Amino acid sequence: MSNHTPSPGTEERKEFQTEIRQLLDLVVNSLYTNREIFLRELISNAADACEKVRYMALTSPTLRPASGDLGVEITINEQDHILTISDNGVGMTREELIENLGTIAHSGSKSFLSYLSEHQEQAPDLSLIGQFGVGFYSAFMVATKVVIQTLSADSQADACCWTSEGLGSYTLSAGTREERGTSIEIHLKEDAFDLGKADKIKQIINKYSNFVPYPVSVNGDKVNTVEAIWVKNKNEISGEEYDEFYKFYTGAYDDPLGRLHFSSDAPLSLHALLYMPGSNMERFGFSRIERGVNLFCKKVLIQEKSETILPEWMRFVRGVIDCEDLPLNISRETLQDSTLLQKLNRVVASRLLKYWEEQARDEKTTYEEFWKEFGIFLKEGAATDIVNRADLLKLLRFESSITEPGELTSLDEYVDRMTDSQKNIYFVSGPTRASIEQGPYLEIFRESHMEVLYTYQAIDDYVLMNVGSYRDKPLQSVDQDSGDLPDLGPEKSPQMDDTTATQLTTWLKEVFQDKVKDVRVSKRLVDSPAVLLSMGGSHSMNRLFQSMNEASGIGFPGNAFGDILEINANHDVIQGIERLRAAEDPFATTAAGQLLVSAQMAAGLHVDPRLLSAGLNDLLARAVQTPSHEAS
Ligand code: ADP
Ligand code: MG
Repeated sequence: MSNHTPSPGTEERKEFQTEIRQLLDLVVNSLYTNREIFLRELISNAADACEKVRYMALTSPTLRPASGDLGVEITINEQDHILTISDNGVGMTREELIENLGTIAHSGSKSFLSYLSEHQEQAPDLSLIGQFGVGFYSAFMVATKVVIQTLSADSQADACCWTSEGLGSYTLSAGTREERGTSIEIHLKEDAFDLGKADKIKQIINKYSNFVPYPVSVNGDKVNTVEAIWVKNKNEISGEEYDEFYKFYTGAYDDPLGRLHFSSDAPLSLHALLYMPGSNMERFGFSRIERGVNLFCKKVLIQEKSETILPEWMRFVRGVIDCEDLPLNISRETLQDSTLLQKLNRVVASRLLKYWEEQARDEKTTYEEFWKEFGIFLKEGAATDIVNRADLLKLLRFESSITEPGELTSLDEYVDRMTDSQKNIYFVSGPTRASIEQGPYLEIFRESHMEVLYTYQAIDDYVLMNVGSYRDKPLQSVDQDSGDLPDLGPEKSPQMDDTTATQLTTWLKEVFQDKVKDVRVSKRLVDSPAVLLSMGGSHSMNRLFQSMNEASGIGFPGNAFGDILEINANHDVIQGIERLRAAEDPFATTAAGQLLVSAQMAAGLHVDPRLLSAGLNDLLARAVQTPSHEAS
């Protein structure tokens, strides 16, 4: 069948979509390590095709039947250096060939290209290709030509043949396949002839495709071991087997960060084998990773990538949940809102939370490694999952004013360190540790030796504000005006007489008009001339609103609730502005304007760059006018 020549007129040449062409260009032309993974990708597609048809057969009686049991057969023609990977799975219609292997919907190729350009090495490692949903194209790492013969399970469809040399185009023609399924013929490149040997192929299958749930044979010999290891006893499985199963099951190339394997009889009879992946794929240009836990009943797949089996924020978890209490003939629709599934969800979610809690206690470094990769999901959970919130709060980690950079602390540890006089748990937000520590907000806390948690992401503030308190201690953002903050005490209080202070603050309020709600003398500043406090949410929340307003074209409105500018009456800048004001020097207004802009920037708020640069030019003009003997 490999030498089939389509009759003239039925053959049609088609171009690959641009991104696929770029991907193929890379795949075909460079030198790679790990080229053998192409086999894993093709076997996994063949097994997927078997799984699809098995599932379809449950509901659709009119499928084109297959002759034997579902499985994958590899035949090797050592003489001509041709490998054929054949399955009796779902097959493809002509339209499906075009759609799946040539034209549309392969957003994964784009993500994969950008992933590769981010990881530019001399010989790029393409082994992650399968995770980006474009695994099929890896065939062109080793092939000069790929010929697909396929006959769809749809009994109306005709056999079809797809051929490509991995350049810009492929051809479609009438196919010769008489049985349902797909055969993929790989004509090996000369430098890949070593892959055309049965022993080598068996070795590769054992390495990558051992747990494929359908038999895989090479020239007639069955190679893989099919086993549902999640129903086995923990002590019968080695760490290596666990990792191997994970890689097969998820298509991942790296080891998992951790796993939880347990069985229970009550309240539900279940086996679960769950993994924390080695890396967070949402960071590689994927907007949202798919769910990764499949639901089985007595080793039979019931629901793939179940949306209901775990809380949404646990979508990074991969693995298997096998529940014997599920009725086998349950339909997809009833599965969505079954109370049994909700029960399952609660049982498994709380086991996972307990697992992380124990890990955080007993294996701190491992937990922190996990936290760095997946902490963002736990934060999402703390913000959205009311049922599990209390357990999630214990798992949150932060840097703080007393930790070393990179060292983390928990809310419990913070509370344990609080002195009797401290009422609140304080936190401050900023993009980095350095920017937080250089800003004006920490000054009073440094003076009074109080710990402040550092939050680097808007979601941290969102969570902490929503939660409100932890172990009865109110959570308070240090850039908020509400609540009680420590102050400097009488001995360091401002050295400006009350009349002057009132005159200055009244004047500043006139200058700023509606840009701030109030101006007052601060009891919390040491080194900075001024600080902006928020009357509503924290500045980082306001920043979020600002971004939304900007995106919707409203512009740069300030905080909807209003800000308060506090000034440091002891600071040279403030005293200088006061002298200019008293002398009725118009430059006082320019200087005051810049004071506010600086405070807004220290708050991390967006400042209109045109206003900023106009103000800076005025300051510059003044500075260059001043003779150096006067300035000193
Ligand atoms: P993925 O497997 O992640 O979807 P691939 O690039 O490996 O991405 O495959 C693309 C698509 O081509 C598959 O989703 C499937 O629809 C189709 N396909 C590939 N191989 C086969 C096969 N042996 N039988 C049926 N369909 C297949
Ligand atoms: Mg695939």
